[in-house]
Parts: sequence; C-alpha cells; structure tokens
Amino acid sequence: MTGMMDAVALTRTLIGFDTINPPGHERACAEHLGGLLEAAGFAVGYHAFADDRTSLIATRGRRADLKPLCFTGHIDTVPLGAAPWTQDPFAGDVIDGKMYGRGTTDMKSGVAAFVAAAIDMADSLDDSPGVVLVITAGEETGCEGARHMAMSGVLGEAGAIVIAEPTSNYPFVGHKGALWLKGRTSGVTAHGSMPDRGVNALYKAARAVAKLEDFDFNVAPHEVLGKPTLNVGTLHGGLNVNSVPDLAEVGIDIRTIPGMDHGRLREGLSGYLAPDVDTLDAFVDLDGIWTDPRNAWMSRVAAIASERLGEKIEVRTATYFTDGSILTPAYGQVPSMVLGPGEPAMAHQTDEYCYVDRIPEAVELYKAIISDWMTASVA
Ligand SMILES: [Zn+2]
Repeated sequence: MTGMMDAVALTRTLIGFDTINPPGHERACAEHLGGLLEAAGFAVGYHAFADDRTSLIATRGRRADLKPLCFTGHIDTVPLGAAPWTQDPFAGDVIDGKMYGRGTTDMKSGVAAFVAAAIDMADSLDDSPGVVLVITAGEETGCEGARHMAMSGVLGEAGAIVIAEPTSNYPFVGHKGALWLKGRTSGVTAHGSMPDRGVNALYKAARAVAKLEDFDFNVAPHEVLGKPTLNVGTLHGGLNVNSVPDLAEVGIDIRTIPGMDHGRLREGLSGYLAPDVDTLDAFVDLDGIWTDPRNAWMSRVAAIASERLGEKIEVRTATYFTDGSILTPAYGQVPSMVLGPGEPAMAHQTDEYCYVDRIPEAVELYKAIISDWMTASVA
C-alpha cells in the first residue's frame, strides 16, 4: 500500500542532509531515499564508490520483453561559496513561493519529484516495463558515482532516460561534453636576481595561455548546441617572487559538441602547445549527449510537457553537463531528456532557490511520462 508522497516536504528533508561535495558524505541521504522506496515495494541496491559516498538504484516492475524507464539525479551539491548567504542553506525555508537552500535547484527537488512520482505509481508498476531510479553521489566532481556503477555493471537495462537536472520543467534534448585538462610547464629554478641562469616555467605557461586564446577547433557548429568552447580557468606557478619558477600549471575547460573525439582533441592540443607544455592530462572527460528531438519518445515527452506547461516546446539544450554523459552510453545510447523542476540560472548560486510550484508540476509531468511509457511500450 502506498500513498501520495509530498515532494515539497521531501525536497526540504533532502536539503537538511549536508552533501556538499567535496567531501560529499551522501550515504545518509541515500539511505533516507532508499528507506522510502523500499517501503513502497522497490528493490533497492546501494553502491558506494568510496567510504560514505553512496549511490543507489531502485527498481520496481519489469517485463522480460520491455525495458524500464530510467530517472536519474544526483544528491551531492556544490559548496556554499565564499559569499555569505542571507538564507539558511540547509533549512529549505519558503519565502514568496521560493524554497531556499543548497541543492534546492541542483538538484534535490528533481530527485524528490521523481521519487515521489515513482512511489505514487508504485502499485501500478508491476507487470509493466517498470522504472529504474539511478540516484547518484559525486556528480558535481565529474560523475564519479555514475561512472562507478557503470563500471561495476550494476545499472541493468533502461529504454530511455529522464535526467531531472534543473530546466524549469522545460524539456532539453542534450548538452555539450566536458574535457578538463591540466597542462604543466617546467623550467629550471634560479635566484630571482639572476634569471638568465634559470628557465622560467611561467613564461612558458603564459605563451601557452596566449596560444589557447587563439585556438581554433576547426569544426562545423552543431545545429542546436552551437560551437565548442575553450576557457583557461586557472593558472598557477611560482612559490616566491625572488625565484625563477620551475613549474606552472594551466587549467583548461573545453566544452565539446557531438562527433568530437576527446582523445584526438587532447592530442591535437598537446601538439599545438608543444614545446612549452610538457604534459596535458584530462581530469574530467565526459562526452555530451544529444537525442534527435524527432525521436518518437522525445516527441511524446515534449508533447506531455507542452500540454502541462501550456506552451509550445522548442528544441533547447542545457548549458551544463549531467550524469547522462555516463548513463546514456552505458544504457546503449538510449533517448535521453533533461527535465527537472529547478531553475537553471540558480544552480551553484549563493541563496540558491527553486520555485515551490515547480516541484508538484514535475511530479505530475513524471507521472504522465511513466504512464506513457507503460502504455506505449505495451501497445
Ligand atoms: Zn546538477
């Protein structure tokens, strides 16, 4: 027996768990969700990629001939940032229709909404294709939880994915990939009064940075995602002003479009920056996702959203990356839609909030998407 789950109250409960990553500590939050889902008859499996870094997979329903519908969301959040908050980041207080707190938008409201939708529909899932809920730890630092589960082979099967990241409940059909690189330059240290006796690693790094500003990907823009981008986000080097620095590091954030091979791109950049940059290592390497909006399921989800939101749905994409970078290929490049109640502009912000009304709206959208999956798959 299952009752209606209050997704707004559940969002507030999830905000109360401090899952700031780093360090993460998602286990207690994961177990809270797992307990609710088990009570509603879901089979729940916990998968930790490190101590206290727990993801979970919950399933109910399944027919041998039909694949379940996947919902995914992460329970870690980014840090609070340096600026002081005017609201308690762990209280989930509601003021003027906005719920405040770290993770309200990105993306505990989305997790709460699909958990509530799945629990509301739990009893009707048996003898249907069913649902698989993939709730991850460690997303914000490069999809660590999702990657661990994909590598461990515990994801099972899914026929399509709803990624509940913040979209104001507007369906987004994809996002760019992310390739984050660390370039190192090296030199020979010497006293700062005798620079000719050393080799200055910062001069090499500065030359590399200047070349990166002019880098041309030389690829045709994607019809919707546009052009790939490159940004130098960090530059570190030097220990004291009166020495010639012998080491410097350049942090590079590249956002790619479908069809770009990350390995070849890294090699090409490595050659472009030679001989100044010695090593160029990827520390985040995630492909983008893109499903043709004319795909049958994508069209049906767009129609459901159009009806519920009362507006025409255009082809839009997200600016951020998601666990879809791991899950979409792991499930066999299945259709993947980004759709969730948070506000895209509020992700990672001081005084992060989501609009409270978006949460039950997302629950209704998800229930309609589940109903569609059950009937369309059976038909
Ligand atoms: Zn997120």
